[in-house]
Amino acid sequence: MSTDKIHCSFCGQPQGPDIPLIAGEEGHICEECVRLASQVVGSWGRKRAASKPLQNLLKPAEIKERLDQYIIGQDLAKETIAVAVYNHFKRLSMENENPKMVLDKQEVDIEKSNILLLGPSGTGKTLLASTLAKIVGVPFVIADATTLTQAGYVGEDVESILVRLMDNAEGNQELAEWGIVYIDEIDKLARAGESSHGPRDVSGEGVQQALLKLVEGTRMKLKSQNRKEQNNEPTIDTKNILFIAGGAFSGLEKQLEKRFNTGQQGIGFHVDLSSTKKSYDQLRLFEEVLPEDLRHFGLIPEFIGRFPIITALHDLDEEALVRILTEPRNALIRQYHRLFQFEKVDLQFTPEALIAIAKQAIERGTGARGLRGVMESLLRKVMYDIPSQEGITSCEVDEDAVNKKKSIELIMAE
Ligand code: ADP
Repeated sequence: MSTDKIHCSFCGQPQGPDIPLIAGEEGHICEECVRLASQVVGSWGRKRAASKPLQNLLKPAEIKERLDQYIIGQDLAKETIAVAVYNHFKRLSMENENPKMVLDKQEVDIEKSNILLLGPSGTGKTLLASTLAKIVGVPFVIADATTLTQAGYVGEDVESILVRLMDNAEGNQELAEWGIVYIDEIDKLARAGESSHGPRDVSGEGVQQALLKLVEGTRMKLKSQNRKEQNNEPTIDTKNILFIAGGAFSGLEKQLEKRFNTGQQGIGFHVDLSSTKKSYDQLRLFEEVLPEDLRHFGLIPEFIGRFPIITALHDLDEEALVRILTEPRNALIRQYHRLFQFEKVDLQFTPEALIAIAKQAIERGTGARGLRGVMESLLRKVMYDIPSQEGITSCEVDEDAVNKKKSIELIMAE
């Protein structure tokens, strides 16, 4: 029988020594078409699983608007992220609608845009990433770069990030492959690698390399804890997972200032030189970050290169902290108000009290994270007393109470 008559029934490719064909009842199929068919079938599953984020593809302005409901200020970071996420999902939806595009060499390959968030602790980096995942409806995990180790070492290895992503997606692999991973303290990961004799050397460059593979896109087989499932372990493709890395990169401002101040009289010459100058300058400074600046933190160039979008969050001032206390959907003041409502007590704060709380939080130096601590210590006594005292209808917190010059006033029913 001559073999040159046998063709792939799908693409027409003739069988050859390098092109084996699989025979069916009535036709044949080549390897390339099997792959394509598998992609198409995979995309059906994905379509079903992930139809939600793609169907309601939010426009950048809509994403920003939703972020505004939870995150105060940080407009630059919010806008940058909104655009990046919009493009990310647009790319996925294009792939989803036309899976052939993946094989089509002529198509422009839109690469994903992982994001690097710079900014001091407690300014909303994690909040931004987690709110984003909530908005777009994909699974989300946070990994701490300082606890990551290479596979085989004690600690959380890089693979475990994907295991958690799968858990978060309730085992839906397609959805997990479109998830968002936030890697916190990315600056410290590198620093560990810088000292050649530190005990955490294992997590230095080795972890960076392992993370790099993950971020670049790799297929990783997840080892199952469950023995029954061990033959059915999923292989996760990280190609479409969006990675957001965050770090305080403390000392970076000084480094940038140095670069800017050499021979220059001032930075941000078109910026109003008022009292807001500091935060403005900081913002502008971080905008000027170049990949090589981050190399001082020991991040390898390939790694930095995989985060083409760099954006910055700035320190939160008193006014921003007061807004954080009161404005977001789950603002602390609202939370405590609700808590007190359960006891039928109306909790009120004077505007001066809010400013005083913000001031105390700034002193703690942990950004907005300090607010909860201040609130807890402020309200601890009344939260202890109120449940066992009858007849209290309201509770007013003023500036003196915050500054511990007097105790919080409890108002009884007439
Ligand atoms: P980071 O990751 O930058 O260290 P987080 O995002 O974990 O900081 O912030 C800690 C907490 O502070 C958040 O859970 C949130 O309650 C509050 N917070 C920080 N920044 C903001 C912000 N810009 N708007 C609203 N809340 C904020």
